[in-house]
Amino acid sequence: MTKPKIGFYWCASCGGCEEAVVDLAEDLLLVADRAEIVFWPVALDFKRADLEKLADGEITAAFINGAVRLSEQEEMAKLLRRKSQLIVAFGSCAHLGGVPGLANANSRQEIFDYYYHHGPIVNNPEKTVPDHHYVEEKLGFDLPEFYDAVRALDQVIKVDYYLPGCAPTPNVVKNAVLALLSGNLPPKGTVLASPKALCEECELNKTKPDEGIRIKEFKRFHEVEKIDPHTCLLLQGLLCLGPVTRGGCGALCIQGRMPCTGCFGPLDGVKDYGAAALSFIASIIDSNDPAEIQRIIDKGIPDPVGTFYMYSLPKALLFKGKWEHG
Ligand code: SF4
Ligand code: SF4
Repeated sequence: MTKPKIGFYWCASCGGCEEAVVDLAEDLLLVADRAEIVFWPVALDFKRADLEKLADGEITAAFINGAVRLSEQEEMAKLLRRKSQLIVAFGSCAHLGGVPGLANANSRQEIFDYYYHHGPIVNNPEKTVPDHHYVEEKLGFDLPEFYDAVRALDQVIKVDYYLPGCAPTPNVVKNAVLALLSGNLPPKGTVLASPKALCEECELNKTKPDEGIRIKEFKRFHEVEKIDPHTCLLLQGLLCLGPVTRGGCGALCIQGRMPCTGCFGPLDGVKDYGAAALSFIASIIDSNDPAEIQRIIDKGIPDPVGTFYMYSLPKALLFKGKWEHG
């Protein structure tokens, strides 16, 4: 019997999602047994030409990690879309823009000015900057174009399923791959993790008071002398985003005594994760005095964009439509 064909590709990402595939350990053999890997350039010697040779729709499912910042990434995403029956946005960057998406807080020009002219370790007296088209001795070279903004995968191509996480955890990856290969598919657009909030799978949830949480001071991690491993981190003043984040990771960060920063993204029906997180945190600040609220925020949340939109700035409703077409 012919095995279904699968492919993996990375765009703008750190490589952690590729590690997540390798983290499947012996389960990777299970996947390799049930499917034929026809494209995985980071691990095996596949070239773009190999992908181009495949018939349209020949790949059963392609898993694309990373956001889209360069023209080359957009071309590869579109090529994979054509060659694949299903596209899975793999990891936070493909799902929501991810950490690379925070670059959208600055313009392309500001980024180039910093990295090629004004950064503390730059030595560039000739003010050289990368050019999309470069000619030397009559030979021309094209470099990928650096777009004005970072986009999530579904802002570039149609995406069928989403695997959340920075990076997705092995159990989430394995369950998703096997479900897709079995043909037992959930409705298109499903985020392949728990539909419930992270707090519901956190063992510290039972320590929250019935009357709800009220916070007078948010502490940054290094300001907490000793973390109590038996009490909800939010109650200890650490800004844990578990209440507004999709579950499925097994509360891994909390087990490591780190607050959740929201990498599994929003719950179903929430269009803007950062706005939901901001609104939740605002609702638990224990004050009605604007000056005191300002003081609590200034001291405890010095980087609101990085805190609330760490993984999802390209999807912020504030910018809706602005970056959809590069
Ligand atoms: S807020 Fe964080 S620490 Fe508290 S129950 Fe939720 S996930 Fe656990
Ligand atoms: S606890 Fe939060 S940040 Fe950590 S892996 Fe889970 S969803 Fe991601």
